[in-house]
Amino acid sequence: MIVVLKPGVQEEKRTQLIEWLKGMGLGIHISDGDYQTVLGLIGDTSKVDMDLIESLDIVDSVKRVSEPFKCCNRKFHPDDMIVEVGDVKIGGGNFCMIAGPCSVETEEQILGVAKAVKASGANMLRGGAFKPRTSPYDFQGLKDKGIELLKIARQETGLPIVTEIMSVSDLHLFEDVDVLQVGARNMQNFDLLRELGQFGKPILLKRGLANTLKELLMSAEYIMASGNEQVILCERGIRTFDDYTRNTLDLAAVPMLRELTHLPIIVDPSHATGIARLVPPMALAATAGGADGLIIEVHNDPIHALCDGAQSLRPEEYDELAKQIMKIREVVAK
Ligand code: PEP
Ligand code: MN
Repeated sequence: MIVVLKPGVQEEKRTQLIEWLKGMGLGIHISDGDYQTVLGLIGDTSKVDMDLIESLDIVDSVKRVSEPFKCCNRKFHPDDMIVEVGDVKIGGGNFCMIAGPCSVETEEQILGVAKAVKASGANMLRGGAFKPRTSPYDFQGLKDKGIELLKIARQETGLPIVTEIMSVSDLHLFEDVDVLQVGARNMQNFDLLRELGQFGKPILLKRGLANTLKELLMSAEYIMASGNEQVILCERGIRTFDDYTRNTLDLAAVPMLRELTHLPIIVDPSHATGIARLVPPMALAATAGGADGLIIEVHNDPIHALCDGAQSLRPEEYDELAKQIMKIREVVAK
């Protein structure tokens, strides 16, 4: 249930109402907008007398919210959420370009790519240290050493680092990571999501291979209900019957999620297509479709990449794409 307060309500009356609602055993999510405050009532609202609340002089309106997701529901929080990572902002009109290799391989590789993508305008560096691979015999990532190399690249370039966490038991290695990525395969690892809710760092939550948008939002809800509001959603393609692309990029997810949630929404055209030459057109389409950012795989030597070389852009290709993205942004930016 949401309670919209009238503009300019006295602090004292507002506090009285909040305390009264809390006294009914409800959690209250307060969203202070430019004009109005919205109180999101979380918990069992079946015994709450809507008419009584609506009759209060400080209340503008009361609505029941039928969706099972509350913390990430736009109805509870009409203004866009802006996730801040150092000086970088994502959401609310702030476009973010995350780029880097699928996996961190060597210091030379990650430094070279980091410098190149920064020069092209990227504002965060990605790189996997813990890799979720389909085969146990494939390269599994440099693990803690990979995180150390990412930190060196951050030190050299100033770019915040984004890297994937696969297991709760590795969390201590991520204390100094800027954004923790939850990969598609872990989108419903609920224990991990709950822990990340208490970790206090921005989370990049990727949509699972076969998950609906509601399931994606429920996973965001796990993180937020555990205390962490800093969640960025990522559409990265889903499994369908298509035979020529790695996944099917569900671009309609961007405007649909925009209606449902206030969280920033970014797109990963690399994993969505699996083919480097398809990445630029899909990146441009996602930008035109209103995404808040893009996460793109870039490798200095894709042919010899230890993971996902076929979908990785070369730095010069990323540079060209970044220029086109900026032009599209000029058209769609609010
Ligand atoms: C990745 O970003 O390298 C990755 C493994 O992505 P996803 O979880 O979307 O497959
Ligand atoms: Mn990858």
